[in-house]
Amino acid sequence: MHEASIALSLIDVASEVLAEHGVARARALTVRVGAWSSVVPEALLAAFPACAQGTPLDGAHLSVILVPGVGECPNHGPVTLDVTRGLRCPHCGAPTPTLLQGDELELDEIELLEPNREDP
Ligand SMILES: [Zn+2]
Repeated sequence: MHEASIALSLIDVASEVLAEHGVARARALTVRVGAWSSVVPEALLAAFPACAQGTPLDGAHLSVILVPGVGECPNHGPVTLDVTRGLRCPHCGAPTPTLLQGDELELDEIELLEPNREDP
């Protein structure tokens, strides 16, 4: 499953960040997923808890920020793309082969679980 391997690589990156901070656990994790990244956020959210088991991310809450696709239209400049219409300007239909944003898959934020700060 595609999203499971993505979840595992995110967990890898997040675990490294935790280690750098000398923190054993994370409370929450936020990732930015582009509309054109080929990642299905729902599938990623579903795959995460099982993938996180036994890692420092075990029990952490995963949030996904969906980043809309933005292309460069020769007539309109940067335009927000409609996923259902492909890489074309939604206003004039001109091809926008260059994606300015929307293909990212990256860690946005990790909320560390401090040893002396428990859930309220
Ligand atoms: Zn246009």
